Amino acid sequence: MTTKNRASTDWLVVHCSATPGTMDIGRAEIDRWHRQKGWLMIGYHFVIRRNGKVEIGRPVDTIGAHVEGHNSVSIGICMVGGTDAKGAPEDNFTSAQYAALAELLRDLKAKYPRANICGHRDFSPDKNKDGKITPNEFVKACPSFDVHDWLVATAVLPVTPPKVNPPKTAKQGGWAYHQIVAGDTLFSLARTYAVSADTIVALNPGVITKALKVGAGIRVR
Ligand SMILES: [Zn+2]
Repeated sequence: MTTKNRASTDWLVVHCSATPGTMDIGRAEIDRWHRQKGWLMIGYHFVIRRNGKVEIGRPVDTIGAHVEGHNSVSIGICMVGGTDAKGAPEDNFTSAQYAALAELLRDLKAKYPRANICGHRDFSPDKNKDGKITPNEFVKACPSFDVHDWLVATAVLPVTPPKVNPPKTAKQGGWAYHQIVAGDTLFSLARTYAVSADTIVALNPGVITKALKVGAGIRVR
């Protein structure tokens, strides 16, 4: 049995290992756990250890095992940690891990520019069909932080070219971002991404003021 290659890469999915912050594990341990479940090998393509070191899991071009229903079109990245001592979700990742995640995502976006970045829980079903995946709908808390908010807050967003592949279902966390460059206006962005200016404002609550800040990432879809 071997791993098969992916035909396309639509998603870069961030996970956590759901282990306490005090547990310094990495690829070797997760690989063992996943093999014990009867899997071929570790399901994630990357593991980011507590010290920020990135370890390679499954070969990056192959189909992983990390997000039900989307494995054939996604890459899985596992941040080690994410729960407290009792196993409850906790955003306890180290700054070295967040820095490593930002760098890894930038590299992957360069290789797969059409891929959207999201967290595992963003693939939860939209039970009340309001177009948003809210905490009460999360199947699991993974990765124990809001990937979208983090991307916006840290402005590590890679430039998303216009007309990226539309997400399979827009309701399941399909975000696209634009990094502001000099000369951008709300209206030029609306034209580029074929949405209304009001939509862009609504997608970025509290973020968009009269002047767009060069370098900031904003959600455009
Ligand atoms: Zn996960």
